[in-house]
Amino acid sequence: AKRIVIKVGSSTLCYEKGHLNLERIEKIVRQISDLANQGKEMILVSSGAVGAGLAPLGFKERPRDIVLRQASAAVGQGVLLHMYERMFREYGHTVGQILLTRADSTSRHSYLNLRNTLNALLRLGVIPIINENDVVAIEEFKIGDNDTLSANVAGIIEADLLLILSDIDGLYTSNPSTNPEATLIDEVLQITDETYAIAGGAGSSIGTGGMYTKIKAAHIATNSGVHMVIASGEKDDSIRLVAKGGVVGTHFKPL
Ligand code: ADP
Repeated sequence: AKRIVIKVGSSTLCYEKGHLNLERIEKIVRQISDLANQGKEMILVSSGAVGAGLAPLGFKERPRDIVLRQASAAVGQGVLLHMYERMFREYGHTVGQILLTRADSTSRHSYLNLRNTLNALLRLGVIPIINENDVVAIEEFKIGDNDTLSANVAGIIEADLLLILSDIDGLYTSNPSTNPEATLIDEVLQITDETYAIAGGAGSSIGTGGMYTKIKAAHIATNSGVHMVIASGEKDDSIRLVAKGGVVGTHFKPL
């Protein structure tokens, strides 16, 4: 794979109280830098803005109030990018920040603009770091989850691979936290109603994250000819192994 989009979620990047898991982030940055050094074009989609803003603001948990969550995102996005910028710079890489709203990936004009900018950044050897702009997005108009955002981005720039790092090592035959008999599915060739059903079904689609949005992402990605893998963000070398084509997690193949 030459062009690889990596999506990391808040649960991978932050401890429960919102403090950044620096050791884990460091390992992710190091693996991405190493692949970039090997000539791969790397794009990072990172959540974590609200989480990273909690500690600096003295909040003990994610505020229920939307305006306070957006305030937390405003502070946290800076914290997050500062950290990425510093870590990637240590490995000799330059990063560029892209904050998106839903209109950016749906309206034709912004879509083309986004594609051109991303391609320019990659040509310049920059590692784009993308997130939804949580500060201005009004709840109803949000993309809502970086799973589908990362799949849209992967489609727009015709990536070869989308890797979604999660707190679980892939898609199981049913939710392993409620069913101890569940087993890991290592390959999905076609996404059907049943695939959505084992991911929690349409009922959980209103919430953000979870397996359901990852199946939605796989649908978008594979329809655009992009391979997608769900793997554990808690393991030290998931990125390196997947980029090498190893069998890790769940692989969704395009038709
Ligand atoms: P992230 O924060 O990494 O984006 P989430 O924690 O939102 O991911 O979603 C992953 C969780 O989805 C798992 O930890 C698991 O509890 C739940 N889940 C529900 N159904 C399944 C399934 N069929 N296979 C794997 N995980 C599932």
